[in-house]
Amino acid sequence: MGRHKQHKPRRPRGESQPTTEWFGTAFHSTRGMQHLDVRQSGNGILITSSPAEIDDAPAAWPLRLRNDDDGQGLKEVAAALAAGQGHVFGVTEGPGYRTVLAFLPDHPEEGVGTLARVRTSEGPDSDVVFERSAERPMGLWAEAGENLRRIVPLLGPDALPADEPEDCQLCPGCYRPVYESSTSHTLIGAGPMPVFGLCRLCVEGSTLRSLRQADAPVDPQQRAVLETVAAALV
Ligand SMILES: [Zn+2]
Repeated sequence: MGRHKQHKPRRPRGESQPTTEWFGTAFHSTRGMQHLDVRQSGNGILITSSPAEIDDAPAAWPLRLRNDDDGQGLKEVAAALAAGQGHVFGVTEGPGYRTVLAFLPDHPEEGVGTLARVRTSEGPDSDVVFERSAERPMGLWAEAGENLRRIVPLLGPDALPADEPEDCQLCPGCYRPVYESSTSHTLIGAGPMPVFGLCRLCVEGSTLRSLRQADAPVDPQQRAVLETVAAALV
């Protein structure tokens, strides 16, 4: 079992933070960077965990929560995350199985919460399969909940319903989801190839500083990008 360290990105003075989005990162001693992004998506909320485990492989998981009841359901999600309490988002029943989307606090280990889509089959050889899961420190979920609480009242009734989640690119330096509304940068001339879609924290060098501080591992591809950026900053 590894350790978690949390990192709250600091924003430079004078830069106004978009009010309808929030982003946080935890540094895990063996798994490296774990991002959580919460934002308005039309008349709903998009929670992106990057990376998450999808069918046992690491990938970004954008989870869109619709707002069909004037924010009531989303406020309950926000309250549960902020208070570190379990929450069931929904249950889908099918022939011989059911799928549950839920937030599981302190499971399987103390201090860690999991957002999961779990499929259980009925019958004598019933089994439980985690189709999708994202594990983060409880503190990071709580912060996401607080920000969700702040964002939900801003979802005006005139906001367009977005049935398809927005596309996101993963920052090549840290795999943070970068949406159209997020600031991103292209680095040209630092290496043989331009680096596209870098998030602000990577461009400023704070990702590399945080990684060193937290002593968290980083995959070789990310390291190569971050070192290219660092070389260009000198
Ligand atoms: Zn980045």
